[in-house]
Amino acid sequence: MRILAASFVLPITSPPVADGAIAIDDGGRIVDVGTRDRLISNYPGTALEDLGNAAILPGFVNCHSHLEITALRGALDDVEHDFRSWLLKLNDLRSGLSDDELLKNARLGALEGAQAGVTCFGDIGRMGHIGIAALKDAGLRGIVYQETEFSPDNRTAEKDFQKLAAKYEGLIDTQTDLVRIGLSPHSPYTVSSRLFELIAEYGIINRIPLSIHVAESDNEVELLQSGTGFFTGVYEKFGVEWSSPYCSPIEYMERLGVLSARPLLAHCVKVSDTDIAKIHAYGASIAHCPKSNSKFGHGTAPFERFLDEGIPVGLGSDSVASNNLCDILEEGRFASLIGRNRAGSERFIGAEEILRAATLGGAEAMVMANEIGSLQAGKQADLAVISLGHPAQQPIADIHTALVFSSNARDVRLTLVAGTVVYRS
Ligand SMILES: [Zn+2]
Repeated sequence: MRILAASFVLPITSPPVADGAIAIDDGGRIVDVGTRDRLISNYPGTALEDLGNAAILPGFVNCHSHLEITALRGALDDVEHDFRSWLLKLNDLRSGLSDDELLKNARLGALEGAQAGVTCFGDIGRMGHIGIAALKDAGLRGIVYQETEFSPDNRTAEKDFQKLAAKYEGLIDTQTDLVRIGLSPHSPYTVSSRLFELIAEYGIINRIPLSIHVAESDNEVELLQSGTGFFTGVYEKFGVEWSSPYCSPIEYMERLGVLSARPLLAHCVKVSDTDIAKIHAYGASIAHCPKSNSKFGHGTAPFERFLDEGIPVGLGSDSVASNNLCDILEEGRFASLIGRNRAGSERFIGAEEILRAATLGGAEAMVMANEIGSLQAGKQADLAVISLGHPAQQPIADIHTALVFSSNARDVRLTLVAGTVVYRS
């Protein structure tokens, strides 16, 4: 067993502890959390690492990333004002990268996460094995959701499903205690209705985590609500047979049985009160990606509405091709600031809520809160240690606001997953 001590410990499920400490057993689980004095006297003779002027938090959960396209950071900025061009250029550039290049870059992306205090990724990958290898190499935790290819035509749904299921089954044996496999039907505009039904059924029967990009842009809403817009042009070009459901993206997911699989829904920018109620009623969860949404000009998801409805919601960086960083403290700061300024915003989102979303909220959204997300005895020792010594953080009046409004990845000093150090500055 060993003890880590610092000027603050933030368990998230209980108030911050000044001059706090955390005891970790040799199996990488948390044994106790409290004041330094109490832990030293309760566990005499236990090795103690004093981290000094710093805050110990649960590791950050990045609920939505695409590590395999880390190489495309900055490469798409010139077309992001036009989502259609962005999607087409992304496909072109990605297909030009070898497996080796994708893997090297995914590893750099995972390292960037570890350096930012991220201990768990919800990573979506066209090439699932690459995200899995990158997380394993970095010693990080996560779920890698194997993604569908461009498959919007019902006529090929059975074949598209067999292909995806074969990929998934090929990855099952690569799972570890830390890295698990899920499935990602990419989005309502790239996956046929029949394929959605097949994946949802398969996911429910086999208890497979699902994650989907949904209700992200006006283009997507236009396609589903009225069957018009730029996607129809793409379908014509590729001879795709597609018919509009004439409903909202979330209602469409409900009709196809997808919400019943309790998926992790990335984005949810374009959602009505009815949609929000449906997400809650089905027990689905949300990956809130405010920087990516803003960078595209897609709008701002009603984050405080999700929180107030009781929907499990975490933060996601999305790919660095649309962010361009994986920095969950910065993502959280941005979520709070833009949430406060959203037209129709119902209330201020506080720093404490942001830290909860960045940790326990993400764990709940990925259905992993039994194991991670807070500092409590019995949970995994997945930790982020944030230095509080930078001039830009002084003076510290409140630890929550100091972390959210004047700290970022620059300040992360140490990251642990299941008690093992994966990054030390
Ligand atoms: Zn995404």
